Amino acid sequence: MSFAWQREFTRLGSWLILWLFLGLLFGHVMTWLFVGSSLYLGWHLLQIYRLSRWLRDPKQLELPDGTGVWEDVYRAFRLLDRRNRRGQQRLENMVSQYEASTAALPDAIVVLDENGHIAWFNEAGVTLLGFRSPQDIGQRVVNLIRHPTFASHLQSGDYGRDIEIPSPIDSDYRLSVRIIPYGEDQRLVIARDISQQKRLEQMRRDFVANASHELRTPLTVLRGYLDMMAEEATAKGPLQPWISPINDMVRQSTRMGNIIEDLLKLARIESNAGSAHHETVQVPALLNKLVDEAKAVTGDAHAIHLEAEEGLNIHGHLTEIQSIFSNLIQNAAQYTPAGGDIRVRWWSDGAGMYFTVSDSGIGIDKKHIPRLTERFYRVDPSRFSRTGGTGLGLAIVKHALEHHGGRLEITSEISIGSQFTCHFPLERLRRLA
Ligand code: ADP
Repeated sequence: MSFAWQREFTRLGSWLILWLFLGLLFGHVMTWLFVGSSLYLGWHLLQIYRLSRWLRDPKQLELPDGTGVWEDVYRAFRLLDRRNRRGQQRLENMVSQYEASTAALPDAIVVLDENGHIAWFNEAGVTLLGFRSPQDIGQRVVNLIRHPTFASHLQSGDYGRDIEIPSPIDSDYRLSVRIIPYGEDQRLVIARDISQQKRLEQMRRDFVANASHELRTPLTVLRGYLDMMAEEATAKGPLQPWISPINDMVRQSTRMGNIIEDLLKLARIESNAGSAHHETVQVPALLNKLVDEAKAVTGDAHAIHLEAEEGLNIHGHLTEIQSIFSNLIQNAAQYTPAGGDIRVRWWSDGAGMYFTVSDSGIGIDKKHIPRLTERFYRVDPSRFSRTGGTGLGLAIVKHALEHHGGRLEITSEISIGSQFTCHFPLERLRRLA
């Protein structure tokens, strides 16, 4: 028992003895004791009243020092209060530091509650998204960011990828939006201004397209002269000593021409995004044509088998679909030694449509597979110059596939063969009876 409590009991004992003594002196002991106890109780009630008043408004009122056991109780409350205030101050400092740092962020950060209502946003939320503070707090975010891609992404619950939308305040600005779920059904929306990045990408694309376009004409002239010289560079012709360099120049200029054509094709695919004309592409007929062309080029070098589901067509951009199929078929022929097998399949199941080219060719080491669709990526640069490939075929396939909501899957084993599968979404399926 603490010293204060011991003192309190001593005080109570002395108080009762005093009133007992008065009772004995003047008679009516019980009455005197009752009065003494009531006074004691009244004093305690007064202390409880003071404490409860202070608890209601600890910032305005001062706690008295108190006496007896109350001195101890008041001191403990004062200590608790001081600790609380210090904790509160620390929290306030943290919150203001957090607010200052998020205000300095160039990205818009919006906190959504479990119903998709705005709970908080930073300064960039005003400049990038046009939110107003405090009027927009509590508003449904989809009422303020009205783009359908955002609404469906928010509703989907699948936040694995970022989306791109125009800014609600100026459609020339592009925003990359990421949604991060946290806590219990709360979400954080982070929007970044990627307009500058987009402009640079566009400039790069324009530059490559313009440069390729400008190179086309001089190269056509050079090739024209080279072809004429090649005709003269025969065993009996005047350019006979130049046979080998002229043939080499013809080969290299043809390669350069192919690279320029592929660069232009890639630039066209990239600039087509969203604006291209899509139609029903009759895939089985197209594949028959492409396989016949491949057979004509390779002669009897490979056995090429085609299995295409009749009536299974795709809604897409004809030239892009043709590029996808022909690049993969040509690659299979190019990277499969004579006597190999090439299988081309076009089919669908309940989940999607698939185009697969499997070959029994040289195969690709696993470490190269993730980089194959990069522009000019070569597994074996020396082979590259021998095969005359442009190094752009798979980049074209990847971009064209992305336009159709598809993706490329590559599996391969060295010396066994490779399999390239294009996955197309089911909504592009068009069946003709
Ligand atoms: P390229 O014009 O060189 O064929 P691609 O972009 O079409 O360019 O292909 C990139 C690289 O991927 C090729 O250089 C080649 O090394 C590899 N590759 C593509 N298809 C196959 C295949 N069917 N078998 C083996 N390697 C392949």
